[in-house]
Amino acid sequence: MAQKNIVVIGAGVAGLTTALLLSRNARYKIVVAAKHMPGDYDIEYASPWAGANYMPVGARGSKAAEYEKDTWAPLEDLAQNHPEAGVHFQECQIHSRAKDAGSATADWFNELLSPDAWFKDVVPNFHQLPASSFGPGINAATSFTSVCINTAIYLPWLVSECLKNGVTFRRAVFQHIADAASPSLHHERKVDLLVNCTGLNASKLGGVEDKSVVPARAQVVIVRNDAGKMLATSGTDDGDDEACYIMTRAAGGGTILGGCYQKGNWESQVDPNLAVRIMKRAVDICPSLTGGKGVEHLDIIRHGVGLRPVRAGGTRVGKERIHGVWVVHNYGAGGAGYQNSYGCANAAVKLVDQALDASAKL
Ligand code: FAD
Repeated sequence: MAQKNIVVIGAGVAGLTTALLLSRNARYKIVVAAKHMPGDYDIEYASPWAGANYMPVGARGSKAAEYEKDTWAPLEDLAQNHPEAGVHFQECQIHSRAKDAGSATADWFNELLSPDAWFKDVVPNFHQLPASSFGPGINAATSFTSVCINTAIYLPWLVSECLKNGVTFRRAVFQHIADAASPSLHHERKVDLLVNCTGLNASKLGGVEDKSVVPARAQVVIVRNDAGKMLATSGTDDGDDEACYIMTRAAGGGTILGGCYQKGNWESQVDPNLAVRIMKRAVDICPSLTGGKGVEHLDIIRHGVGLRPVRAGGTRVGKERIHGVWVVHNYGAGGAGYQNSYGCANAAVKLVDQALDASAKL
């Protein structure tokens, strides 16, 4: 069958995972074109800032839950069999406080907080913790085996796997999505299909301009201290849109302390007061982080701010023709871009196959 030329726009976790899965089909010749690439740290590039772990938040029966379910096995395989990808297993404890019901964080974590969550039969060792094992103010808690991804290793690993399969990488900035169909991007060959993985910028990119994509601002502190497990709570006493979570990245990546979920906030700079609240909450919920010595004994690597690309209605995985070229979209994963990466990318690959098979029959 004839070779098909594809341009994947975006080199975040969505673009790289989609490119990797597409590159397993020898019929596809792929170029990944993006403004930002692994190694860059920028407010327009969410993926490097992520924790990143697997804490499912998709509601039971939703597309989001299906994408998350389909992503567990590939992440488990990476943690088990591919240490060079920078993904490791870690116990994850979810603490629930009755008083957080209805808050922004508790709504975001609704499924995660359930003792009967759909993913209890997907992840290993899901169980409720006895009251004696958690601190004052906590009303219930669950625990399961999850993974934590060192994004500084994992994103370059995805690039390497793509390169092995013949994918080419180009820096480019597009004003309109149709600009990515220029033959000059693809070794002067006609481009047959575009994959749109532009994250938050799908709200501004010409030809897409999806105004239902908005930022949910995240602020984190990365420290050298080790918590030994992941922890998240249903809320905090510091405001509706603040959160408390801790996760230690694989292979010396440090421990991420979070956070917040500030919808509609585009601020790129660190809020120092919020940073202090994040650190205090982390040490309160997990005193062993500093061996019981208090917040002053956190050893800070750096502070970070990232913008989660949240889309009303969830991640857009769909296809359409723009200016006569097939476009498959995969953007808007919000705070779940890693934990749904393989599910969304697989769904996008199916749409690419359909679109190119259909155009072959024309
Ligand atoms: P991005 O990573 O933003 O990539 C977009 C790409 O498109 C970039 O390469 C950019 O340069 C390119 N691009 C955009 N517009 C153009 C253009 N016009 N021309 C050329 N290139 C363009 N998710 C989890 O699953 N688990 C977690 O634990 C987790 N923790 C998080 C913690 C923080 C602090 C943050 C900020 C996010 C977290 N997330 C987590 C969410 C996750 O990071 C995002 O869902 C994910 O990174 C989105 O990836 P993306 O590839 O869609 O977008």
